[in-house]
Amino acid sequence: MALDFVAQEIDELKRQGVFRPLRVLSSAQGPRAVIDGKSVINLSSNDYLGLANDPRLKDAAVAATEKWGAGTAAVRTIIGTMEMHLELERRLAKFKGTEACVVFQSGFTCNSGVIPVLVGEGDVIISDALNHASIIDGCRLARAEIRRYAHKDMGELEQQLRDTQNYRRRLVITDGVFSMDGDIAPLPEIARLCKQYDAISYVDDAHSSGVLGTNGQGSVHHFGLQGQIDVQVGTLSKAVGVLGGYVATSRGLVDLLIHRGRPFLFSTSHPPAVTAAAIEAVNIMEQEPELIARLWQNARTFKEGLKALGFDTGKSETPITPVIIGEERAAMEFSDRLFEFGVFAQGIAFPTVSRGQARVRTIVSAAHSKDDLDQALDAFAKAGHAIGIL
Ligand SMILES: *Cc1c(COP(=O)(O)O)cnc(C)c1O
Repeated sequence: MALDFVAQEIDELKRQGVFRPLRVLSSAQGPRAVIDGKSVINLSSNDYLGLANDPRLKDAAVAATEKWGAGTAAVRTIIGTMEMHLELERRLAKFKGTEACVVFQSGFTCNSGVIPVLVGEGDVIISDALNHASIIDGCRLARAEIRRYAHKDMGELEQQLRDTQNYRRRLVITDGVFSMDGDIAPLPEIARLCKQYDAISYVDDAHSSGVLGTNGQGSVHHFGLQGQIDVQVGTLSKAVGVLGGYVATSRGLVDLLIHRGRPFLFSTSHPPAVTAAAIEAVNIMEQEPELIARLWQNARTFKEGLKALGFDTGKSETPITPVIIGEERAAMEFSDRLFEFGVFAQGIAFPTVSRGQARVRTIVSAAHSKDDLDQALDAFAKAGHAIGIL
């Protein structure tokens, strides 16, 4: 009885046509995968560099498990910090060129832990309208006033900064690469405005870690802005192929986060397998920039192929390439047809993107072969004709 509302809410989801069973992956994550029993070219994972199933990461995870166990059974601040946790943080700080770094359990917990340490009551957060859900939740937890500026609109950001000069602290926060459109934040302007108006600058590089910058250091390196952005959040869960989030910033802020970042204080630390595999991924990114070059080569080839077929790829500047269909049902049907033709590319509709902007989102990886990309483009052409948009 008390839970009657659940069935009603589920009926409502079904009525809207958005209730979906989870798709099941019955192979390892990779450029080709078995999804719901069908072998397809996979264009929907965040495994940009093909590291999720890399033998070197797996070996590191197995060896760490053998030596250090399956779990840590403690939070970092009690007895859940092993030397390898500190090693990963040192390696990431060096990789990012910052004084220090602290790792959280995920990118999501990183944002929800860090933002409330930076600002609170009496402060204001100025946030890009298309920022990720974990940023939005982190902002809510912070209890600061939240203001939004239209996506990438630097005039509006400056206006907000002018209007908020009486607040105690101000935090400007943006995704580095936006997950639904694949466009890049105007970081040079954001850095300049934050400096001019004495605001804290914060970039979430979840989709830029392992993607932007020569070795995948992220959006700050991409623009040559080292030392000019106060807080860089990254993830170990996407291109890095494992799991985790991190903040690369000043020694002082890391020390404060270790005392105040609630997920760090109250949720168990990463198992040895996760930490060791992430360290191995950093080794690979440092030693093999050609992986990132291959990712970009594949992204360019695929994007140009889609455009040549006549698809609308929106504002994408990165390996995230949307194919914008418009109408919600048509986008879902397009995704279904692609699947029939051997390609998995997730359909995305309102509320994740605006109404009338429904799309399938593609992410190629460094691990896709030329053959994979050619076959995928062929499937896009067939599916486009099948639903009558080409
Ligand atoms: C994916 C994503 C996250 C969450 O990262 P996880 O490590 O998967 O928790 C956070 N921020 C942005 C911008 C993301 O795209």
